[in-house]
Parts: sequence; C-alpha cells; structure tokens
Amino acid sequence: EKESFDAAAFGEAHITKGIGRLTKHVFEEGKGSYITTDKGVKLLDLTSGIGVVNLGHCHPKVSEAAAKQCMKITHAQVNIGFNKTQVELIQDMLPIMPHKSLDTFFFWNSGAEAVEAAVKLARAATKKPNIIVMQGSYHGRTNATASLTRSKTIYGEGHGPLMSGVFATAFPYYSQWCATPENSTEELVTEALHQLKLTLQQQTAPSDTAAILLEPVLGEGGYVPAPPEFLHGLRRICDENNILLICDEVQSGYGRTGTMFFVEESGVRPDVLIFAKGVANGFPLSGIVASKELMDKQKPGSMGGTYAGNAVACAAARAVLQVFKEEKVLDNVAARSKQLFGFLNELKASGTKAGNLIEDVRGRGLMVGLQFARTPSKAGSQNAAAMFAKQQPQIAPKVVQECLKRNMLLLSTSVFDVLRFIPALKISEEELSTACSIFKESLEAVAE
Ligand code: PMP
Repeated sequence: EKESFDAAAFGEAHITKGIGRLTKHVFEEGKGSYITTDKGVKLLDLTSGIGVVNLGHCHPKVSEAAAKQCMKITHAQVNIGFNKTQVELIQDMLPIMPHKSLDTFFFWNSGAEAVEAAVKLARAATKKPNIIVMQGSYHGRTNATASLTRSKTIYGEGHGPLMSGVFATAFPYYSQWCATPENSTEELVTEALHQLKLTLQQQTAPSDTAAILLEPVLGEGGYVPAPPEFLHGLRRICDENNILLICDEVQSGYGRTGTMFFVEESGVRPDVLIFAKGVANGFPLSGIVASKELMDKQKPGSMGGTYAGNAVACAAARAVLQVFKEEKVLDNVAARSKQLFGFLNELKASGTKAGNLIEDVRGRGLMVGLQFARTPSKAGSQNAAAMFAKQQPQIAPKVVQECLKRNMLLLSTSVFDVLRFIPALKISEEELSTACSIFKESLEAVAE
C-alpha cells in the first residue's frame, strides 16, 4: 500500500551506495526556497539543489513553459534537424554573453558532458593534447572530468586509468598555500601565476598545451573567487602561448555571483564558456559557447548526442531568462548578498564563541563560502603538517547536522573546513533572515 511504502528504505536497498547522501529525507515537493518531504517535513533549502533551482523550486513560469513544450514536441533531435526552441534560446542567450565573440553554441545535458565537449573542442582546434587545471577544481564525475577534477581524490579513486594529458597548477586560495586569509591577494596571485609559468616549463610545454581550464569561482574546492588580476594573468599567458582559456561557470554562472557570468567582473574574455545548472532551473541542460571560428574547427559529426539540448529543457531555459528580466532577479541578488555578508561578517566580528570559529567569509552575490578557523589564534607560524591536520573539515559537517535538526539544508565543500551558502537567487529578505537565525543557533550549538 502507498501509505506504508518506506521510500527511503527501498531507495537504500535498491540505489547504489556510490551516491554519497547528506540526509535520508525523501523529497516530494518543492516551492520557492522550501522543499517538503514525503513525511510532511518542510525544509528551508540553502543548497538550491547544488546551485540549480536558482529561481526557486518549481518557478511557475518555468514549469508552465516546460509543460507547454511537452504538448508541442519533446524530442527535436539535433543530429536530424534543427530544434526550434533551441535556436530561439540561442537568440535569447546572445545578449547575456560576457563577450560578443561568444556567439556559437553546443548544448548538452549535464555539466560534465559540457566540460568534456570543451576539452574535445580545445584539442581538435589546437591539435594539442594537454589541459592545465587548477588544484581544488571540480568539473564532474565522468572519466574525463574526474581526471580534470582536483578537489578530492574520491572522485577519481579506484576508477583509473583516467583521461591522460591533465596537469594541475595552483589556484590563488590561501589554504592551498599554507597561507592565511591575511596574506594579500597580490601575493597569492603572484605565486599562482609563477607556478603556472613553472608548469609550462616543467610539466607541459606550451606547444603541447591546448587549454587552461578553470572555475573562475572555485566551487567544490572551497568557494573562492579568482581575483581579477589572476584572470587577467591567465588571459595574458594564454595569448602569449597560443593556449585557449576555458571558463567553467557551471556553478558560478547564471546570476549566482550577481552578474550573469562571474567573468564579467574582470572583463576577461574566455575562449570557451561552459554553462549548466541554473540555465534551465532544474531541467537538464548544459552547453558550451565559443567564437564561430573556434567552434567550427570541430569536424561535422564529431559532436552531438541523443538528448543534446532537449526541447523541454530549452523551453524552460527561455522562461528562466524571461524571469530574470521580469522579476529583476539580479537586483534581489545584490540586496540579499548584502544582507548575508552583513550578517556573517557581523557574527565573525562579534567576539562570541560562535563568531570566533569563523576564519573567512568570502564570495560574490549569493555564492558565499565560510571557512572555519584552524586555531583560535590563526595559523601563521605553524608548521605545514600541523596546519594540514587542522584543516581537515571538523566544524562544517557538525554545523550542517545542526542545521538539519532545525530543518534547514546547507552544504559544505572540499577537504577544507568550508560551508557554502547558495540560496535561491529569489530568496526573500524574511526567508534569508530565518536562514541566518537558524545558522547562528546551529553554530552556537557546535561552539558550546
Ligand atoms: N563544473 C562545475 C563547476 C560544477 O560545479 C559541476 C557540478 N557540481 C560540474 C562541472 C558537473 O556538472 P554535472 O554534475 O551536471 O555533471
């Protein structure tokens, strides 16, 4: 009987243990910033399904657009003909591109597939084999993207041999350097660019290097925005060495950081931009965009896929852009970002037991990372081993559990002790204020 059906137990028995799962909740309904479980528990969602339902769960205009498309055509296969909704979506997306050279698209379903498409394009266009990625990067869990991912070993562990030709260099993030938040941005950027030059001298020659691939805001690796100087430095090095710059904005794109794409802040032009997640607010849609000249270096037939750029997902994506305009979503991001940063920075400076646990509050817009202190007196003079031991996540997982007890979903990141705040971009002032209170109570419970 339906009433006695224990979906969690059945799922536990019949779904792979390979999926790490934060809770045993069974999600049945979502509306705005809230999710309701099959047991009627209402949860405040600060994860947005990992930065996907940016307009809130089941935004009516997006759901309606998808439903309407369902009655028209669901599968307009792109290797057979043009998908009209997809072509219309391109027309809608062109004005939000961070650079006018980005005018030629390829759509896929998931972020990882789009990352793979970008790598294929870079290799085909440059006729060079190697890709440089950042330490701390996350690009997906397929074989190629697990190889490109350097945030945690678990994503590749036991699954080798992974795709070859990938080299990692350092991102300007203090935890990657045994540094502290007090180290200047300039110092970190100089170090990181120096390491990149060494990578090109010691590991992969420019003549073998097709692309530098990075998340302009390090995501799973710790929620760290790249300083503009770093992105400019990368652009310069790419230009000098005939290397492509690929920006993975799967998580940081689509309004998350307060602009449609984070690279807008620095004005740096990516050769290839990767998007997914928020683009269709929960429908599977991803893609890459590049100049026509670059994209057309792919041989006809080398790209495509059964569901590439599905019509229903494309209809949802068109509605997403309409909502951005009609509901002034970016204005809300600016206001709520100020509210969240204000609250977290005040808590950090409060001198309370809970506040003293916080080491760093960072991010842009509503992509906010909070890192916990390694020691009450900061790490400065400690040796590397002691620092590393103390950097293992200790506080973040406990706070996540305390938030759960209070019916709020919050995520952590990476091998460092970091929490990430990614509420819906449409979260109201009141909802965010509730979230802040729950967070404070949860942190206080851990601090006791
Ligand atoms: N790149 C980035 C920056 C991501 O955050 C993610 C997903 N968290 C991916 C790629 C992979 O996307 P997907 O899970 O849709 O394959």
